[in-house]
Amino acid sequence: ANPARVSNENTAVPNDLESWWMPFTANRQFKANPRLLVGAKDMHYTTHDGRQVIDGSAGLWCVNAGHCRKPIVEAIQKQAAEMDFAPTFQMGHPKAFEFASRLAHLAPGDLNHVFFANSGSEAVDTALKIAIAYHRARGEGARTRLIGRERGYHGVGFGGISVGGIVSNRKVFGPLLAGVDHLPHTHSLKDMAFSKGQPDWGTHLADDLERIVTLHDASTIAAVIVEPVAGSTGVLIPPKGYLQKLRQICDKHGILLIFDEVITGFGRTGAAFGAETFGVIPDMMTTAKGLTNAAVPAAAVFTRKHVHDAFMSGPENMIELFHGYTYSAHALACAAGIATLDLYRDEGIFENAKALAPYWEDAVHSLKGVKNVIDLRNIGIMAGIEMAPREDGAGKRGYEVFVKAYEKGLMARLTGDTIALSPPLILTRKHIDDIFGILKDAIQSVN
Ligand code: PLP
Repeated sequence: ANPARVSNENTAVPNDLESWWMPFTANRQFKANPRLLVGAKDMHYTTHDGRQVIDGSAGLWCVNAGHCRKPIVEAIQKQAAEMDFAPTFQMGHPKAFEFASRLAHLAPGDLNHVFFANSGSEAVDTALKIAIAYHRARGEGARTRLIGRERGYHGVGFGGISVGGIVSNRKVFGPLLAGVDHLPHTHSLKDMAFSKGQPDWGTHLADDLERIVTLHDASTIAAVIVEPVAGSTGVLIPPKGYLQKLRQICDKHGILLIFDEVITGFGRTGAAFGAETFGVIPDMMTTAKGLTNAAVPAAAVFTRKHVHDAFMSGPENMIELFHGYTYSAHALACAAGIATLDLYRDEGIFENAKALAPYWEDAVHSLKGVKNVIDLRNIGIMAGIEMAPREDGAGKRGYEVFVKAYEKGLMARLTGDTIALSPPLILTRKHIDDIFGILKDAIQSVN
């Protein structure tokens, strides 16, 4: 018998689990014991066996306003009936302009131009390409080098994995982009374990950018890309002053600074963007996920005025940037996105995240002393709970905790032996209590 074939008698599990090659999943392990989600509302999912689980990860860090919110659902339904698709190459539609304008007003500083894509990976590729083309447009075509960071996650395109720094996402895919270098990551258990919010230690790690500039020469470097908070690697919070220092060094050498805000955008850190929380304005910002509350796939690259304007000097009948996607500014995405921004504003969702951040921090750090917990990290409404790897293999303890938590009613996110939490930002204190109550039980029940 094929273990991947599960009878659907009295269950919502389909007969054929074999055909779908699942992303970032241990397919054989999963299909032997599948976890299927069949419904969602606000802070909870419904599982295929009829249980309610609290969504500790906002889906994949993306459903910031909670699930199946009526205004977003209705906006999508209306748009689908009115105009499903409109091309955006040499054509346009009103909602795309409206959405971009709303986003430009929300963004800090002069990050006031928006290029649409459909996923974080596409947003990253877009930003990297704009960075290189920007320098060329200004007559500095030798600036093609890109600097990422160890442990960084920038999606799965060849650009993103080249500047990314998670080894398993890179090692089997060949030589990747040429001319990429990496900053060191900012994590050190010895120096910063159990820091609340931004660690005091680690600012000096930004100085490595000076070393890289000396090695390659500034005239060859286009951009530096970092996540303000490194999410997928397990929630690494930037040391105090670190992002400021990166900004200063980039300014000194004419290098563009890109913040990958795919996770930190739209309220996660307690303000609209991490750029605001940390008080550093990058030259470009990549976003996705919370952009449409994940109801329709969409991404947006924000650029500062000087970046955009550098492309606007040639003949007016020329296409300025030979880049775009069939689904850039998809009509459904724009409708969902505008409704999402309305909801964020009308319900004060970012403000709720900010107001609850101290309570969240206390809840996170209440796990100090629980067995096997070796670090706790938090900012806004996100957290990393790191457990010691077990001798039988890195990641096994984490996986067991993740499964136990799910059985007990909490969906969390797992990376290695770190549990990452990032629930919808409509949460209450009661939800925080529920999340940490279940997680503590789960950790304690695993060896
Ligand atoms: N960049 C960051 C910082 C992310 O966290 C992610 C996804 O988690 C991505 C890019 C890739 O986004 P997507 O999966 O939509 O391509």
